[in-house]
Amino acid sequence: MVKTGQDKWLKQDEQFIWHSMKPYSPTGTMVVTESKGSWVTDHDGKKYLDGMAGLWCVNVGYGRQELAEAAYEQLKKMAYFPLTQSHQPAIQLAEKLNELLGDEYVIFFSNSGSEANETAFKIARQYHQQKGEGERYKIVSRYRAYHGNSMGALAATGQAQRKYKYEPLAPGFVHVAPPDSYRDEADSKAPLELPGVKAIDQAMTWELSETIAALIMEPIITGGGILVPQEEYMKAAKEVCEKHGALMIVDEVICGFGRTGKPFGFMNYDVKPDIITMAKGITSAYLPLSATAVKREIYDAFKGTEEYDYFRHINTFGGNPAACALALKNLEIMENEDLFTRSAELGETVLNTLKNQLQQHKLVGDIRGKGLLIGIEMVKDKQSKEPLEVDKVNKVISYCKQNGVIIGKNGATVAGYNNVLTLSPPLTIEVEDLELLINTVIEGINNVK
Ligand code: PMP
Repeated sequence: MVKTGQDKWLKQDEQFIWHSMKPYSPTGTMVVTESKGSWVTDHDGKKYLDGMAGLWCVNVGYGRQELAEAAYEQLKKMAYFPLTQSHQPAIQLAEKLNELLGDEYVIFFSNSGSEANETAFKIARQYHQQKGEGERYKIVSRYRAYHGNSMGALAATGQAQRKYKYEPLAPGFVHVAPPDSYRDEADSKAPLELPGVKAIDQAMTWELSETIAALIMEPIITGGGILVPQEEYMKAAKEVCEKHGALMIVDEVICGFGRTGKPFGFMNYDVKPDIITMAKGITSAYLPLSATAVKREIYDAFKGTEEYDYFRHINTFGGNPAACALALKNLEIMENEDLFTRSAELGETVLNTLKNQLQQHKLVGDIRGKGLLIGIEMVKDKQSKEPLEVDKVNKVISYCKQNGVIIGKNGATVAGYNNVLTLSPPLTIEVEDLELLINTVIEGINNVK
């Protein structure tokens, strides 16, 4: 193949771009020039199957002309106007999201997952005051979860490696152990005794219920290692919140929009959250947009007559009309192509195939997931469950990349738990591409000495 100047771009990249997470990428930078379906092309013309797109939520796949056109048509009509007033694309999108959520929510738009979570924290804190419940300000969250990069969302994050050079962060965040179905003993007969649930109950008790504003949780902890909870966990966590008068905020930034086989991840677990945050998946990451969906009765508490009864929170670009128009088209595609069901069915097949082929492998501790969000937990030893060294985990990722397949890893660096290989392709992935993804990962794991 004729070289088209990859080196030049890499050199310029190195000179000018400050990458996030650079040291965590075991395979170096690639300059992506084109993408279509589940495939991306680098500047040398090499094509890669993107088995990681789900973490940036390109759920309907790359290169969808309909999405580009929806944004273009809207930009031609009205490029921008803030949501201190209103516009049709935002109204239509809010209605559509509400339909997906079950008709009980009011939507506040912003631009990123971090902002959607910050918005949720402020709403939760003010809500309790509006109700005359005093200053309930503490937010309980779980270790290993990621909730964003801003000072509040990072304070909610339970991954020390992302935080410790930036402290002090926003005060008022309390962390508890996450559910780890692979390592914790589950007593499914008593949901309130489930390890992760008990931790929430204890934290809310010991911190004093009357100081607790909310619990924030992802249905499945993604960035912290694809931690799928016991089936009863989320419902039991909601009951604990109710017992303590706290709101439940569910972070659907990755789990939402079909990734876990349902429109939203919480729908796998038979709960109705009080507040739901969502981001990149709304537009399949084509344009920045996020939302905080709030139960109508919470919104109603902000309808007082005093000036400070209002939610005094403003966001210039949130609910950008072009992004909303694109999001509407994205949701239409998801429904027309039945991508929620597709994700559930393909995910089941991937889990079964991986389990059949890898369950006995001495370095594979656990294979878990929901929909097309799959984690393979790599261990040194099946008995002790000690995590595999990150260099060896990286070898699998590098092997895949050399063979034209992108996968990633998640976990918690501090305690050495950076050991969960992650597969999350677009929900539109062709079946033969999915086979290529699975086979390459299996070869990569077999290749680790
Ligand atoms: N919550 C979760 C669960 C996330 O994974 C992320 C980022 N991937 C965020 C929040 C923050 O979103 P953003 O990067 O858009 O601020």
